[in-house]
Amino acid sequence: SAARALAGLGAHVTVVDGGDGDKQRAAAAELAERAATGGPSDTGGEGRGAGITVRLGDGDTLPEGTDLVVTSPGWKPDSPLFTAAAAAGVDVVGDVEIAWRLRGPDAAAWLGVTGTNGKTTTVRMLASILEAEGLHTMAVGNIGTPIIDVVLGQGKDGARPYDVLAVELSSYQLHWAPSLRAHSAAVLNLAPDHLDWHGSMQAYAADKGRIYEGNTVACVYNVADKATEELVRAADVEEGCRAIGFTLGTPGPSQLGVVEGLLVDRAFVENRQKQAQELAEVSDIAPGSGTPAPHNIANALAAAALARAFGVRPAAVRDGLRAFHPDAHRIQHIADVDGVSYIDDSKATNTHAAEASLAAYEHIVWIAGGLAKGATFDELVQKSAARLRGVVLIGADRALIREALARHAPEVPVVDLDRTDTGAMSRAVREAARLAEPGDTVLLAPACASMDMFVNYNKRGDAFADAVRELTARDH
Ligand code: ADP
Repeated sequence: SAARALAGLGAHVTVVDGGDGDKQRAAAAELAERAATGGPSDTGGEGRGAGITVRLGDGDTLPEGTDLVVTSPGWKPDSPLFTAAAAAGVDVVGDVEIAWRLRGPDAAAWLGVTGTNGKTTTVRMLASILEAEGLHTMAVGNIGTPIIDVVLGQGKDGARPYDVLAVELSSYQLHWAPSLRAHSAAVLNLAPDHLDWHGSMQAYAADKGRIYEGNTVACVYNVADKATEELVRAADVEEGCRAIGFTLGTPGPSQLGVVEGLLVDRAFVENRQKQAQELAEVSDIAPGSGTPAPHNIANALAAAALARAFGVRPAAVRDGLRAFHPDAHRIQHIADVDGVSYIDDSKATNTHAAEASLAAYEHIVWIAGGLAKGATFDELVQKSAARLRGVVLIGADRALIREALARHAPEVPVVDLDRTDTGAMSRAVREAARLAEPGDTVLLAPACASMDMFVNYNKRGDAFADAVRELTARDH
């Protein structure tokens, strides 16, 4: 997206990949073809012709004459090419920075969302609320259509321009987006993740915190996660920009929270006589998907806070939450078989996410394992032990979880499948069904990445759902 957009604007683009395998060659061929066929015309400016060339097999040196480096998350910040760029005084930025710089004079406002977990869910809830208000909007960023394409397409071909964008921002994107200034933004939570990329928890948190820089209306933080509030305090914001908290408890002033099953706003209250504004019932959150898990109530409050900061009416918050449908593989109910409920939370790819979903059920047979990405499992197992009926382990790093279970929950039965093949999921589900009792939940919340066994977490979740359907077919 960045290469095409910049070539389209007349830049000469060199796409660099340190690898030189089949995958890179196929991608290069596709880019070259696009550049040749749909190629933009020469702008003639400063002798630069438009076009894309591809350089494979050398990821270390800066191509001669480079004015700007646009990077992607696959590249670590200490890559030699970036050191070379710094030495040459050349800027390094990401796709979000390009989108920000290219947005037009009457561009849509950006409402930003980041955090270790819950980003996608929250921006989708936010977009749904904004739509319910009658605003033209889209969930973009680390999700769906590349943000550069959205910004460049703004209002083109007679299309109605966006009023506001719900922008999901990863820590990588924030790291490389120095001039981004959102209308309002939220950091949902902070837990160790991607530390191999950022180098330390501190650096990771600092990158997340950039989302607040220059906010004009509201910095939304999680009252239960002090680190998010500290990031607000550290941020340099526009005058009048407010810190707004969200909490699952009773909200204080300048907070949104929950009172007797109602989502309540004490931050944006129009009527000065009133202390609080009711927004919706907790049961209005994705009503088709059963009782919302606590972390999804938190996500809904964060989305509501951003929408309210943008001036959205309370009724639209309610309608938007009602219309919201969770994406697949995020606490997705697959089926009930013999009184046991099967839940796919394949997107729980780290311990913080798995902890949230394990906290949402009483008696659980837990399917876990995969690539640990340097995580430890002691805390997760300690916090969840009392809820575990049994555990089925799969994947490359399952020994780490097995050892944590032996230390903190020796009484919980564990089936260690000792398998990393794709077929293991079907076996894992059958083992889980054997351990489960009526009323229990079989929960796929691996706390690990999927790439040791599957192409991605979607495929892992699909394999789980297929296996559950096999159960149904066999038993009935
Ligand atoms: P992200 O886009 O940040 O990866 P998602 O909305 O896709 O977040 O949710 C990823 C997983 O994280 C979910 O499957 C769920 O297990 C967990 N999760 C979602 N929201 C939260 C939250 N607020 N706190 C902790 N875990 C969460």
